[in-house]
Amino acid sequence: MGVTRPPRAVIVGSGLAGLTCARELGRRGWSVTILTPGRAGRDGASHRVHALAPWILLSAPWVRGDSPTRFLADLKRRGGGRERPGLTEVLVDEAHRAAVELCSELDLVTLDDRPVLLQGDAMPRGRRVVPRHRLPLLLPLLHECAAVGVRIVERAVVIGLATAGDRLTGVTTFLRESGRPTSLAADAVVLACGGVGSVFPMTTVPRWCRGSAIALASACGVSLHAPHLTQALPVTATPPLYFPTTAALLAGRIVIDGSPFAGGTDLVTATRVMAEAFRRGARVALDPSGAAESLLPPKVREGLTFQREGRVPLALALHHGVGGVAIDAWCRTSMPGLYACGEAAGGVQGARRTMGTGLLEARIFGQRAAAAVAKDHHRLGRAAEPVAEHLIACPAEPATLEARIDALIGPLTVIRPTGELLEALAELERWPLAAEPATERGYLAGIRRSAAMEIVSSALTDPEAGSGLALGDGPDRGERPGEES
Ligand SMILES: Cc1cc2nc3c(=O)[nH]c(=O)nc-3n(C[C@H](O)[C@H](O)[C@H](O)COP(=O)(O)OP(=O)(O)OC[C@H]3O[C@@H](n4cnc5c(N)ncnc54)[C@H](O)[C@@H]3O)c2cc1C
Repeated sequence: MGVTRPPRAVIVGSGLAGLTCARELGRRGWSVTILTPGRAGRDGASHRVHALAPWILLSAPWVRGDSPTRFLADLKRRGGGRERPGLTEVLVDEAHRAAVELCSELDLVTLDDRPVLLQGDAMPRGRRVVPRHRLPLLLPLLHECAAVGVRIVERAVVIGLATAGDRLTGVTTFLRESGRPTSLAADAVVLACGGVGSVFPMTTVPRWCRGSAIALASACGVSLHAPHLTQALPVTATPPLYFPTTAALLAGRIVIDGSPFAGGTDLVTATRVMAEAFRRGARVALDPSGAAESLLPPKVREGLTFQREGRVPLALALHHGVGGVAIDAWCRTSMPGLYACGEAAGGVQGARRTMGTGLLEARIFGQRAAAAVAKDHHRLGRAAEPVAEHLIACPAEPATLEARIDALIGPLTVIRPTGELLEALAELERWPLAAEPATERGYLAGIRRSAAMEIVSSALTDPEAGSGLALGDGPDRGERPGEES
């Protein structure tokens, strides 16, 4: 009698969500393959978390008097009804456990005795942590994946999904080594390929995180949840992409073309005013005279521009995709056999996202995706041979297209007027497709084009987003003045 092979899962991406999911499935005896475009565990937003500020933020109820119920009320208030049913509740119920586990597994050290109060929160829930060692953050998880036999293929960009009937049956990946698309059959596929930051020219996330989940799902008709819900942050322009902290932004003065902006201490308003100023071509800076100077991160304070000018030039960067692939509370998409978790999935939070929850979402929903894959397998059984391949369209002249996306999408980072959305969509839709065999560069431009079109189309259907501030916007990271160490 032949030996039955274990069920096969393909995980797209090696951030916290992907590695968590892979490890859990490996422990359950699945044959797991992770496909990732760069170096495993180092090519996603998860690897970058302490690049923006010197510390990592985890937001979960910790203090006496706080509770999942209060946390949920705060998240729901910010979400404004734009969450998917049941997802915020999962985050709330599991946030504390996930935060404790992450600190232990990734060897994170807490900076403060007590949680800090984050802007807009009713209770102090922010835990500032730093890795104890200067090793890659996800190294412990990579080791655990190796220990349970997870196979990792680096330099592999997933460019399509395969189906048989209404069931997902595998992926197509572009392997840089061979320079060719290759098919991989699977009984389950998990999209853990991060958010949409790099659809936008100014972003805090790595270049690979360019909306692959949205593009792949859309190529085979899988439902999306409000892909236009995004979050932007004011960051330093030089040195690039540091977060000056909410404390410094609130305690200092925002200066637009040399004149102070008198807009109160509300960062959402300040972000909008900054966005309007950038659209006029104005220069925006933070003047941290007085107490605010000591609140700036040391890297910013020591930067050449600040030393010379006494001001910090600011920019706005796309930081997080709040929308994404539509999932249920167990990460199932609208297609059997296809799952999404972490930033690839949408709807855990709604109109505005709470800072310090990205890693928690990746962790919690990475675990849930693995549990659902294993459970559903009893019902779905093995996948049939793929019948149809749904590849992302590969555009002609990818370098020119990337430059056009910068020009069309950059101004829409925060403010999204309907006319500009329509113009962008029309130009992206009519972009010619490649006649010659596609390259990795072509597929990467294709992923970005497809994700940009979904974001723009989704914004056009949302009366609140089409003409105003991108929903999901507004920084909430950092402490109130005086509470940062
Ligand atoms: C600078 C910065 C600071 C942050 N600070 C915090 C913080 O303090 N606290 C917090 O909770 N959250 C923070 N976040 C948010 C948090 O990092 C993310 O929400 C979280 O890491 C997302 O994890 P993920 O596994 O879903 O995605 P990622 O870690 O982004 O992983 C996505 C993976 O998919 C891969 N991929 C993409 N496209 C493809 C494709 N086509 N084929 C194959 N693989 C693909 C990527 O290369 C990567 O391996 C921060 C984010 C940034 C960028």
